[in-house]
Amino acid sequence: MKDYLVKALAFDDQVRAYAVRSTETVGEAQRRHHTWPTASAALGRTMTASVMMGSMLKGEEKLTVKVEGDGPLGPILVDANAKGQVRGYVTHPQVHFDLNEHGKLDVRRAVGTSGFLSVVKDVGLRDYFTGQVPLVSGELGEDFTYYFVKSEQVPSSVGVGVLVNPDNTILAAGGFVIQLLPGTEDETITKIEERLKAIPPISKLIERGLSPEEILEEVLGKGNVRFLETQPVTFQCTCSKERFGNAIISLGKDEITDMIETDGKAETHCHFCNEKYTYTREDLEQLLNEAK
Ligand SMILES: [Zn+2]
Repeated sequence: MKDYLVKALAFDDQVRAYAVRSTETVGEAQRRHHTWPTASAALGRTMTASVMMGSMLKGEEKLTVKVEGDGPLGPILVDANAKGQVRGYVTHPQVHFDLNEHGKLDVRRAVGTSGFLSVVKDVGLRDYFTGQVPLVSGELGEDFTYYFVKSEQVPSSVGVGVLVNPDNTILAAGGFVIQLLPGTEDETITKIEERLKAIPPISKLIERGLSPEEILEEVLGKGNVRFLETQPVTFQCTCSKERFGNAIISLGKDEITDMIETDGKAETHCHFCNEKYTYTREDLEQLLNEAK
């Protein structure tokens, strides 16, 4: 099954809901960055929440999520857009701890409990929306919930989960976002609160292999959900040898001449996807010709 997300309305369109299966996408991030299990869970949960947040955007809009806690992972950076494309990295990918007292990956210990979650939305025409909240948990699901409530003033509930195989590959990943629209009746709010208390943790739902649609039915109750559309979700980086080449060109003739004379080659590295690009002497001479 390929990754995808589903958008829905629930309780007579008083509630907006999103759910995603992100197993392959988080798996690709794990392979590219060689993350250890606790780091995979932290990066995967951030990517899973970010791709749903991205799906709330339109057209060419995109966003960057940064989680900056005081734990050993260092900053987590994730880009997502309205097309279900997401990429991301964690500063220190080789971090792992013993399972916590609930038998789960100890994401809080890896992320830290003091720090910030920030979101920058690029909505085009050099227009940016920026929001930042302090971390309230370090488990990330609660931190995204707090972000929606505090920064966007949308009462929300976010559940994100990542399960890791013994060989460090990703077994399953996914999540949901439930948001109350303005004017939601108290009765509906109570119903949702009760359901959220009663459902198993999101990691259990994805472990059972539920589809995004089934996750929303489990969370909101069968018959309460009206599905609107689905969208493929993929790990996708925007980097290329040409793009990095343009960055080299912008360094100017002196700098490029220096590269040619000193090393006779150059290498660039993309943090987001861990791809390396090598420029031979001939490549650099070509770039030198294009530089001012
Ligand atoms: Zn890249």
